Amino acid sequence: RRYDTLAAARNWTPKSNGSFDTPFNITEIFGENTLQLEDLKERLPKVVWQDLKKTMGEGEQLNSEVADAVAVAMKDWATEKGATHYTHWFQPLTGLTAEKHDSFITPNQGGGALAEFSGKELIQGEPDASSFPSGGLRQTFEARGYTAWDPTSPAFIIENQNGSYLCIPTAFASWTGEALDHKTPLLRSVEALDKQAKRALALFDVDAKRVSSTVGCEQEYFLIDQEFYYRRPDLMTAGRTLVGAKPPRGQELDDHYFGSISERVLSFMLEAEKELYKLGIPVKTRHNEVAPSQFEIAPIFETANIAADHQQLMMITLKRVARIYGFECILHEKPYDGLNGSGKHLNWSMSTSSGMNLLEPGDNPHDNMQFMFFFAAILKAVYEHQDLLRISIAHAGNDHRLGANEAPPAIISAYIGDQLEDIVNQLLNGGMRESKQGGLLGLGTPVLPSLPKHAGDRNRTSPFAFTGNKFEFRAVGSSQSISFPIVVLNTIVADAIDKLCTTLEKEMEDNNSLEEALGSVLKDSLSESHDIIFNGDGYSEEWEKEAEKRGLLNLRTTMDALPKLTDKKNIDLFEKHRVLNDREIHSRQEIWAEQYLTTINIEADTTEAMAKTMIYPAAVRYMNELAENVERVDKLGLATTGSSSMLNKVNDGLNDLNKALEQLREEVLEVGDEDIIDRATHVKDKVIPAMNDIRDAVDFLERHTADDYWPLPVYREMLFVK
Ligand code: ADP
Ligand code: MG
Repeated sequence: RRYDTLAAARNWTPKSNGSFDTPFNITEIFGENTLQLEDLKERLPKVVWQDLKKTMGEGEQLNSEVADAVAVAMKDWATEKGATHYTHWFQPLTGLTAEKHDSFITPNQGGGALAEFSGKELIQGEPDASSFPSGGLRQTFEARGYTAWDPTSPAFIIENQNGSYLCIPTAFASWTGEALDHKTPLLRSVEALDKQAKRALALFDVDAKRVSSTVGCEQEYFLIDQEFYYRRPDLMTAGRTLVGAKPPRGQELDDHYFGSISERVLSFMLEAEKELYKLGIPVKTRHNEVAPSQFEIAPIFETANIAADHQQLMMITLKRVARIYGFECILHEKPYDGLNGSGKHLNWSMSTSSGMNLLEPGDNPHDNMQFMFFFAAILKAVYEHQDLLRISIAHAGNDHRLGANEAPPAIISAYIGDQLEDIVNQLLNGGMRESKQGGLLGLGTPVLPSLPKHAGDRNRTSPFAFTGNKFEFRAVGSSQSISFPIVVLNTIVADAIDKLCTTLEKEMEDNNSLEEALGSVLKDSLSESHDIIFNGDGYSEEWEKEAEKRGLLNLRTTMDALPKLTDKKNIDLFEKHRVLNDREIHSRQEIWAEQYLTTINIEADTTEAMAKTMIYPAAVRYMNELAENVERVDKLGLATTGSSSMLNKVNDGLNDLNKALEQLREEVLEVGDEDIIDRATHVKDKVIPAMNDIRDAVDFLERHTADDYWPLPVYREMLFVK
């Protein structure tokens, strides 16, 4: 049966040419299925448009007349495009997106029907959302949460050949106003950053309307033929292979990375990109990644909120379109043992609404001072809140990458490149120049090397690297929502800017010039936080030791990191900037621990079921055959050494497997019902090792069982048939 799967996968042919029967022009289809601002403007009365623009550009409140007018315009646009339904599209704390469709149609008295959609329906929805995780934020008697329109992210249409519906990006909250989703805190963190960054810019005489973080994500993923996928219970239920021996050839030859893209994969990519263009998602690059069957797609950066929505849409679209081409798109961080996992580099910077990138080193002394201020603020933020950055990427899947010698280590540090490190050092030991120049350590004067423009970044081992005009947070997992990592970055940087501004303002009140004040503020701040800078090899053992000496955190797993979320320091931080309150933070901790526990439990059950019902029987059949053979060979008076030795191996494997299975059962039963953090920690400490033992036994059996008995598609098949 396994060979039928293999043949089916190998002989795959497209059912049709997909949408490529009709050629298309990128510029024409780009944004076709999003309600572009221009479209909305055309459809709205001028005053309404102006009100709306204010709401979007400057975060002002929306009144009900405006909402009604926008609702009508939106409905008209959507129905003209053939949409029959609408949905509030939101992001519960599962990390996925949620939608519940409602028809536009309202029956009228004459027995006909009318397409209707009001401002009220646009602004607010009441999905029966009692099954979403709330971590205690919602009592069952007030189980309903509500969704609220986010006008800062464009509405869009999802379509297939049978119809289409309008999606309205929304936030999701409880009736007491507490955030049950990822979007609400993201929007709040954007506000916090905007406030502090503008305050800082004012000190540099820059009048900015709005500052937002900008985000561009490089998404890695695997493709696998569906024929294999549906024969692997582990891939289907857990998103990763729970057993499977390493193939003789994995990624050793480095022949996949940037290699030419196979015909079928290319077809998939082109169609996925076309769908993304229609949604107004500016995808830019595609290439083969390091592991066989691994790929990457990256868009051009956008403002944080839109980038986060688009990232979710991108994951959904990749999965949807892959199926059209007979693939399953795997977003898990570690689908295959022994091969590179998948991440999602989150490129992050700050930009004014007029497009000034605050992390772009300048051409003149003044701009360089400003750059150094924000740069120092970020280093301070990362240093003070290593724990939060680590927590923001902590989940069961990512534990397979972090610190596992392929991805960034679990220690958070910042790579800034040699030139900037040199400048930081000069600022720190700047006594000489200070006396010489009298001003800001000669920053921007010929004495100091000019700031690097787009320094080549050759360090791939840092979890958080400055790459010329942005930071790249590399430890983010491929399957996760990027919202919380952005929330953390926005908030900790807002906080650092806040603190630096306060000292700077004080110094300037004492009649120091900006230059003088900045000199001492930067020096103090950098000397406090410079331990976070590390330009060396993040994978090396020496770094672990060195980091420990520096007192940096090394939170190896999710359950080492997550308990720290509710530390007083973190609650104070989020409350101070009005991003999350105490209850919201506790609820997130509970939900994420619960998710961790559930994930591992599902993996454990799946491992057990596969080992007992698929692997064990296969090995037993082969063992019988071997046993029979030994008997016969012996009867014939021949030496049985070969068969006996094989027989013993398979028997050993089966005994080991049995022992590991018993161990797993015991540990699963011990989980108990105490505190969620304790249960999740038990699972990490006891259940995962037991699962690993099962895997060892199964993989040993895979190497010793006749291939035609083996029930599961093996690595060499899954990874190389495309
Ligand atoms: P690199 O080669 O350093 O990885 P790229 O130019 O290929 O850089 O960009 C990688 C990602 O970083 C892309 O998604 C890109 O849009 C994003 N990016 C570039 N500039 C910024 C910025 N100012 N803010 C946020 N993301 C950015
Ligand atoms: Mg990059």
